[in-house]
Amino acid sequence: MTMVGPFTGPLSAEHAGQLDRDDPLAAFRQRFVIDDPDLIYLDGNSLGRLPKATAEVVQRVVDREWGQRLIRGWNESWWLKLQQRIGDKIGRLIGASAGETIVADSTSLNLFKVVLAGLQAKPERKKIVTDDLNFPSDLYILNSACRLLGSQYHVEVIPSPDGVHGPVEAIQDALDGDTALLALSHTAFKSAYVYDLPFMTERAHSAGALALWDLSHSAGAVLVGLDDGQADLAVGCSYKYLNGGPGSLAFLYVRHNLQADLQNPITGWIGHQSPFDFELSYRAADGLAGFLTGTPAVLSIASIEPGVDLLLEAGIEEVRAKSMRQSEYLIRLWEAFLAPLGYTLNSPAAAARRGSHISLGHPQGWGIDRALIEELNVIPDFRQPDNIRLGIAPLYTTFSEIFEAVQRLCTAVVEKRYLKYDRAAEEVT
Ligand SMILES: *Cc1c(COP(=O)(O)O)cnc(C)c1O
Repeated sequence: MTMVGPFTGPLSAEHAGQLDRDDPLAAFRQRFVIDDPDLIYLDGNSLGRLPKATAEVVQRVVDREWGQRLIRGWNESWWLKLQQRIGDKIGRLIGASAGETIVADSTSLNLFKVVLAGLQAKPERKKIVTDDLNFPSDLYILNSACRLLGSQYHVEVIPSPDGVHGPVEAIQDALDGDTALLALSHTAFKSAYVYDLPFMTERAHSAGALALWDLSHSAGAVLVGLDDGQADLAVGCSYKYLNGGPGSLAFLYVRHNLQADLQNPITGWIGHQSPFDFELSYRAADGLAGFLTGTPAVLSIASIEPGVDLLLEAGIEEVRAKSMRQSEYLIRLWEAFLAPLGYTLNSPAAAARRGSHISLGHPQGWGIDRALIEELNVIPDFRQPDNIRLGIAPLYTTFSEIFEAVQRLCTAVVEKRYLKYDRAAEEVT
């Protein structure tokens, strides 16, 4: 028998440490607040960590711009330009050119605006095509837009064949002469399936429809390439991989050559050609500014910029490359340690079709999730019916954390920690 020294194979903690030492983005972790070094935070796909710089920016805006300068801040601090300025920075992360992305409102609200604008731009067409991997709020919004426009309007929800992969073929079949919009989440919130954006957009266009993408689970983690892919409309949130903070405002994209034709259905004064003339009738501002509605939430918008700056500094290609390395690594660990304990892979196996989280299923998924949070100091999140989502945020997630999280996922099952948690007695968070 040969003696095995400290285990140094590809499935060892030592190897994870080596991957971290070789990681070109490793230094970015120090730019975030890490309050508890033992806590493995794998929920950056729901709420990104706090960048250290954000606390300073928010402090400055509160103390100096608001506290000292009061109403003068609107002019001196360029508060009214924030939505475009930070929007353009987000645009660089998603392949948009300047003037195509603004920060405003929530994702759901922005979606409502662009869906109605898109439908009204194609009045002879009455159908929206989407899929059942989409975020439920998106489906609610698509339906309510149709309801408002009249009874001929409807949403066709194409079912995924397996709950993991997008129904690419069936969507193509559904795109017809009545379709005004193809509206999809680029990265699916449960399985992390990523659509081929240029391909699906081209299919929509060849049916005469517009393509609308929700980038909430893509922005800051996945290469999107809106302009190159000829996308028409997009929305997304800033509190996930962009690290903008709880409830930070969302963004909205309208392709340059559509901006003159599409109309914002919620015509508030900040989207007016000259808001401070207080005219009694509405004239839309030129370009994307016409998609603004009300007074911007300055504190919330200011909190978005430092997280976006970190991603720009790291380079979105580098971020995506690390995300793929890390999710591949996690899948290797799943095969070795977790599959034998009953965990199933509920995300695409192909890295190119997978975003930055991995969903694992387990019959005891809910109890495992509670045990991880309450006893094992891992924060994943949970999506019905049995998905444990493990979010990888390449700017701060380490390979060692992924390795250790997998060990704790083992502990939860081997020691039957899940038994303590009574699903009926607790609210799912
Ligand atoms: C997170 C998320 C949203 C969030 O919408 P809000 O209006 O910002 O609450 C919307 N769509 C998708 C696909 C999401 O993942």
